[in-house]
Amino acid sequence: SKERGKNNFQFYTPNLNEAYLRKIDLETRLRKAMEHRQLTLHYQPQFHLETGKIVGIEALIRWNHPELGTIPPCEFIPLAEETGLIVKLGQWIILKAIQQNKQWQQAGFPLLPIAVNVSVKQLQEEHFIDFIEKALEDTGLNAHYLELEITESIMQDVDQSIERLNALKALGLKIAIDDFGTGYSSLNYLQYLPIDYIKIDKTFIDNIIDKDTCGSIVTSIISMAQSLNFDVIAEGIENEKQVQYLIENQCKVGQGYYYSKPLPSQEIENLLKKQYK
Ligand code: C2E
Ligand code: CA
Ligand code: CA
Ligand code: CA
Repeated sequence: SKERGKNNFQFYTPNLNEAYLRKIDLETRLRKAMEHRQLTLHYQPQFHLETGKIVGIEALIRWNHPELGTIPPCEFIPLAEETGLIVKLGQWIILKAIQQNKQWQQAGFPLLPIAVNVSVKQLQEEHFIDFIEKALEDTGLNAHYLELEITESIMQDVDQSIERLNALKALGLKIAIDDFGTGYSSLNYLQYLPIDYIKIDKTFIDNIIDKDTCGSIVTSIISMAQSLNFDVIAEGIENEKQVQYLIENQCKVGQGYYYSKPLPSQEIENLLKKQYK
């Protein structure tokens, strides 16, 4: 009844209600954004630290709204995960990234892997593996040049995750654990995960020089990775000192504003042309 409706409404504080409305609003806009091509991918190059050569590229989504401006992924990705929109959005992202990488290869650029962020909701979706397989087939990209970045949240269902990751690896692609060290990390399970890379989270790289604890966390992650036969990628490198520290401690690859921000595809092409000419 109307009466009850009114009473229910009182349960919401004005703030909560506002947040709720904003969320619904954002969801509607996100659906429209997917239809109206407001979404693009930017690309952040990954560098071999010692030589400064580009060895990979991470795809990161951008949303340019005609009125609201740029909406950062940290605001809409969690929403897309909550509402299930992430499955469709994620498919768009993967396809776009694979197509772009194939295009670069066909244009004669060096063969580089493209890394795509994948949320655990996508990984759990039943058609995910078929989708990836078909996307690779349709575009003709060799699976060797695709990497999927997943977070430690896959640990919530370790058995299912291991099964999925094995099926993905059977396609020939590579798996990275993103933001390593920030999740509820179960070092114990790490040895059972069929992964290729660990990405050391920016929060540890930030204080690598100033805080002894961060330095030693980073060196332990690196030596643990070595003993488990994973490669390591450092995230969020912002200065030369961090690069030196990482090189001295056997970290081979990294990315961050020190080298390059995420860029539109055209600017990546310019970088590649300069470097590989
Ligand atoms: P992430 O995957 O850990 O990506 C790294 C984030 O740090 C990116 O922010 C990147 O622009 C930023 N970054 C890179 N180097 C530096 C640096 O040196 N300094 C600083 N301050 N920041 C740096 P972005 O693009 O805003 O993405 C934020 C997060 O949103 C990503 O974190 C990822 O979790 C999520 N995300 C972005 N694109 C996608 C996507 O296509 N799919 C999914 N599922 N998630 C995405
Ligand atoms: Ca990532
Ligand atoms: Ca990360
Ligand atoms: Ca992150």
